[in-house]
Amino acid sequence: MAVFNVGFDPKGKPVQVRFQTGGRLNLNPELDAIGGNRALVLTTPEQVDQGEKLITNLGDRAVGLYSSATMHTPVEITKDALEVVKKSNADCLIAIGGGSTIGLGKAIAYQTNLPQIVLPTTYAGSEATPVLGQTENGVKSTLKSERVQPEAILYDAELVRTLPVAMSVTSGLNAMAHAVEALYAKDANRLSTELALSGLRAFVTGLPKVVVTPDDLGARENTLFGAWTCGAVLAQVGMALHHKLCHTLGGTLNLPHAATHAVILPYATAYNEAAAPNALKPLANILGSDTAGGGLYNFAKRLGAPTDLRSLGVSQGDLDKVADLAVQNPYWNPAPIEHLTIRALLQNAYDGVHPNKGTTS
Ligand code: NAD
Repeated sequence: MAVFNVGFDPKGKPVQVRFQTGGRLNLNPELDAIGGNRALVLTTPEQVDQGEKLITNLGDRAVGLYSSATMHTPVEITKDALEVVKKSNADCLIAIGGGSTIGLGKAIAYQTNLPQIVLPTTYAGSEATPVLGQTENGVKSTLKSERVQPEAILYDAELVRTLPVAMSVTSGLNAMAHAVEALYAKDANRLSTELALSGLRAFVTGLPKVVVTPDDLGARENTLFGAWTCGAVLAQVGMALHHKLCHTLGGTLNLPHAATHAVILPYATAYNEAAAPNALKPLANILGSDTAGGGLYNFAKRLGAPTDLRSLGVSQGDLDKVADLAVQNPYWNPAPIEHLTIRALLQNAYDGVHPNKGTTS
């Protein structure tokens, strides 16, 4: 077991982080720390079982389950959940799930200031950031606030063991994307770089083991540690082209979040490699490859991740529209963002060709 308090912002609140397999069976340390005695448990409809088991363990410290968490935190779901919070007189929230459930907890906390305990079950990393993305009338917006950052995070490897292998791979690549962009971020610092490299190492060694033996709790805990470090760097430094492309693709075409990250990551990395060679060289070394972009492509392919946008349901006709949107209000990026080169990147990602070789092998 490892327990530590982390506060990257000297003025911000520290977050208590615990890594312990089986730790979900006793949440009293976290509940005592926040003075929580009436916890409302949050899940997606698919994870009701995990929520119900948690409620059994919590005994009279739980007041109920809200199980309608949905991808991209629609505001109407948050409104519905707020009614349940009010009726149940909950004094804290326990989110058990991936980024969708954690997003709902953050949205409720933003409006009520209720303290949150988070038990992540994917590698997306939202639990480690003060960022909340919400959708209203199909439009996604994000905000950053200390109010949405959880008070405590418990990483229990047994919870992520049920994440199907294909989702484990795309979710892991989603987490790695935060760390890759942290390496070449404009505001990168020594701590963010070390955390990013640590997370990348954890996934490069851990994910292949998860694919072969999904029940390997050591590999699951190692990759959860990677999820935390990759989420932590997402909170610390600015993201660039990769995240802009994924937000644009996800927002306009309603693509699956983690799979979109998995496909785009090798291409965005290759796009930036000539402009940030020193930042990306350690990643190429971790991957045992000459290039970071090519190494990520081979890694993703070896693990069975989707490597082309076509297989996610994107059509050739979508590419111009996405390129147009992606060059509007661009994030800071090491390589210049130009329509022609972004359109070429999207074509390569659509065809799934090797980002350095132009072939699929
Ligand atoms: P998710 O939470 O939507 O989960 C995908 C599906 O997998 C759901 O049906 C879920 O119930 C199921 N699932 C999750 N864990 C499982 C497990 N261990 N076993 C079985 N089923 C499981 O997916 P995600 O990729 O974790 O989250 C995506 C969302 O998170 C997006 O809305 C994204 O924008 C957001 N996100 C936000 C931040 C942030 O900092 N604000 C960071 C990363 C992601």
